[in-house]
Amino acid sequence: MFDNLSDKLDKALHVLKGHGSITEVNVAETLKEVRRALLDADVNFKTAKEFTNTVKEKALGQDVLTTLQPGQLMVKLVKDELTQLMGGETAGINLSGAPTVILMSGLQGSGKTTFSGKLANFLKTKKTKKPLLVACDVYRPAAINQLHVVGDQIGVEVYSEPENKNPVQIAQNAIEHAKTNGFNVVIVDTAGRLAIDEAMMTEIANVHQAIHPQETLFVVDAMTGQDAVNTAKAFNERLNFDGVVLTKLDGDTRGGAAISIKSVVNKPIKFIGTGEKMDAIDVFHPERMADRILG
Ligand code: GDP
Repeated sequence: MFDNLSDKLDKALHVLKGHGSITEVNVAETLKEVRRALLDADVNFKTAKEFTNTVKEKALGQDVLTTLQPGQLMVKLVKDELTQLMGGETAGINLSGAPTVILMSGLQGSGKTTFSGKLANFLKTKKTKKPLLVACDVYRPAAINQLHVVGDQIGVEVYSEPENKNPVQIAQNAIEHAKTNGFNVVIVDTAGRLAIDEAMMTEIANVHQAIHPQETLFVVDAMTGQDAVNTAKAFNERLNFDGVVLTKLDGDTRGGAAISIKSVVNKPIKFIGTGEKMDAIDVFHPERMADRILG
């Protein structure tokens, strides 16, 4: 994961690691390399600049230059700041409500349906919940079938109304179905388009308003880099979502989305998807991710 970024950061920081003492020039040069590595990884320009400025201020504030192992301290400062940038603490999901309603949003192909299944499976096995999956894509019958396939695979019931073209009604009916049949989590998979359009935004905003979800998650493909951040902004403006799910982190992603999304939309990454299988889901831990990036 993020091999290229890891290599570049390692090279940038390596220069300092060996030094018993370092100068302000060493620090400045290293941070320039760090910034270049972040930009190469598709981190948003403003985020990368703020990041290196903060590390520099902290380094000078902590008298890095006079400590015994300045290189190690610099590595720690970069790691701490990277952790902060990705949200600091692990953000849990809100499982209150009877039932808990979780709404999935995102573009087509982002991994919404797959993640809906993964989350249902995760809650079922790890949190002893009884989830219901809801197919709210009224445009693509294939999408409804896909959710049924996923549901069969993990042994979770899927609610759908193939003849109904009103996603608000389907979602509301599904919640009623959950209440009368003992389901305590309702995961609503919605329709996505290949690009953001007004009709899609209005539709999901209407579903959101009608069902008052405890959690609205925005699902985004990490491989889309800067676009992931722009899409997140657009969805957040309409839905004020609660958290982000970054999918396809197993692919050849440069990591920019993971690093910039929190600072741009100020919403935490809650889960990551690391494969196509139903168990390829992880709770996102900023510190662990920073550790992985910095080796
Ligand atoms: P949706 O249109 O947003 O519902 O997206 P899908 O759930 O249909 O996913 C689109 C494609 O991405 C499918 O081929 C999935 O198998 C694949 N996919 C989803 N999540 C992941 C992931 O975390 N890793 C990888 N490698 N593929 C994924």
